[in-house]
Amino acid sequence: MNDHNNNFSSIQQEYLKGFFAGALQRPDGFVGQNQQGQFTHDPQEAVEETVYGTPIDDLCKEEQIKHQKNGLDVWDTIVENCDQNVFPEPPDLFRYKFYGLFHVKPAQDSFMLRCRIPGCQLHSYQIRQLAHIAETYGGGYLDITTRGNLQIREIMPEGTIPTLLDLHEVGLTSKGSGADNIRNITATPTSGYDPQEYIDVLPLAKSMHYCILNNRDLYGLPRKFNISFDSGGAISVCADTNDIAFYACKVENQAGVPDGVYFRLQLCGITGHKQFASDTGLLITPRECVAVAAAMVRVFIEHGDRTNRKKARLKYLIDDWGIEKFLEKTQEKLAFPLRRLPFDQCIPRKSPDQKGHLGNHPQKQPDLCYVGVLTPVGRVLPDQFRKIADLADRYGQGEIRLTVWQNLIVPHIHKDRVATFTEEIQKIGFATEAHPLQTGLVACTGNTGCKFAAANTKGQSVLLGKYLAERIQIDQPINIHLTGCPHSCAQHYVGDIGLQAVPCKWNGEKVEGYHIVFGGGVDDKQHIAQEVFQAIPFEFIPELLENCLRQYQKNRIGKESFSTFTRRKQPDELRSLFQIDALKALVA
Ligand code: SF4
Repeated sequence: MNDHNNNFSSIQQEYLKGFFAGALQRPDGFVGQNQQGQFTHDPQEAVEETVYGTPIDDLCKEEQIKHQKNGLDVWDTIVENCDQNVFPEPPDLFRYKFYGLFHVKPAQDSFMLRCRIPGCQLHSYQIRQLAHIAETYGGGYLDITTRGNLQIREIMPEGTIPTLLDLHEVGLTSKGSGADNIRNITATPTSGYDPQEYIDVLPLAKSMHYCILNNRDLYGLPRKFNISFDSGGAISVCADTNDIAFYACKVENQAGVPDGVYFRLQLCGITGHKQFASDTGLLITPRECVAVAAAMVRVFIEHGDRTNRKKARLKYLIDDWGIEKFLEKTQEKLAFPLRRLPFDQCIPRKSPDQKGHLGNHPQKQPDLCYVGVLTPVGRVLPDQFRKIADLADRYGQGEIRLTVWQNLIVPHIHKDRVATFTEEIQKIGFATEAHPLQTGLVACTGNTGCKFAAANTKGQSVLLGKYLAERIQIDQPINIHLTGCPHSCAQHYVGDIGLQAVPCKWNGEKVEGYHIVFGGGVDDKQHIAQEVFQAIPFEFIPELLENCLRQYQKNRIGKESFSTFTRRKQPDELRSLFQIDALKALVA
């Protein structure tokens, strides 16, 4: 019977009483997080939603995009846009980079694909597939990058998914090669066959690569991140320009540390900001490397700045904290103790050979050789790439290595077959020897493919190399790096000669030009080059550099290197020594 006062039966009233009692007690069911990131049931204690402690409203634009949707979850959108052959809208434009796809408009109204080539090693079947991708979906060329990696350009939206699937078919991927992720893991390109190396680091680079690929929480860092492994071999991998650099070393007769091969761990290389990685005091065994790197990346993920892109690299966290606090936080994430040993109690790597990577060199395996092949500024055509794969199969063991000097190496060639191999390489348009001013020519993409570029770096570097090689005879290699903007993909600050493009004016016209720096180097020749000339139109640069090299040859002490020579002089001295008449009016 109904109660006419409220029109609910007594059973209904009981139910509602229970319901409202439950509803009134909802705070007991509340779950939030407090200041320390711990879970709490008390709404008073709870702080607003954050990303690793940064309130959502304070996140920078890219962090907001990542928070709204993880970049890895953009796959369905790529599929859909591929079907309709359309480019993504701005928030997804950023997320596409999680799959290595960069819409590089206005330089090119298409995608650039940045692959991952772990340890810089490629097998012949992968090379053929990459050539096929470049030819079928891209612009018909491939670029070797300064991370021993490959880029394929001019891919339209309809080519994106076929490209990614074709990569997967041969065990390659581009996942995490762009946006705020860990970039291609580099390793000394002679790993495994270099008579000078302390240890083969290729397996470590691959372990690191697979650790990243298979842990979703190692994507979406505050900013991009670089890791490199140096074996102690003859060719530099510029490891000290990375956020984390492992340098192989030896320890002998040191109390408390068994003799053997270890790694020195260096942190915070970021040469675009004029900083090399520096030694942390840590001594790491080969088996510990990947775990230590993963722990450090996690500390960075949790504590890096997510509000300001300009302060989001690892360097800024460590500048803020100091190295000891960073190492303490890393230790908290490790199940084994970090080991320390002063740098001077280790036997460091021998110097890399500056001429090391071109031509014929003996391997540690008897009778085998590796041959460095010059691929000017890293540009390779699909047909050339296929022929290199064929030669690697026929003369070697079906593999090549890419170098951070934008060249490639074919290893495991029997010494009796090197001469024929060299002839075959020449037939496809490449050389295994070059003028010392052309062996170390490095150039970023430049304005034919990158919207940030202020000059045609690739084209101008080839012109410059040819001009100088025709006029100067020199007894040592000199690296010349051309970079299109302050992002410094071609690392101009570590070149013997570094050029950074800037817009210039000449005769009232806008022209392409460069700031010029001298005296850079890496590894045991580590040095940030000093700026000597500003905003010089490219038109004057060949003649200016010719004079620089002539003055160096005339004024050097004994056989001192170009970098030693330029480092012992002040910028003013160099400026007046190197100056050419044609420039005086411009500078005045
Ligand atoms: Fe583009 Fe600048 Fe990198 Fe060159 S250095 S590829 S211009 S971002």
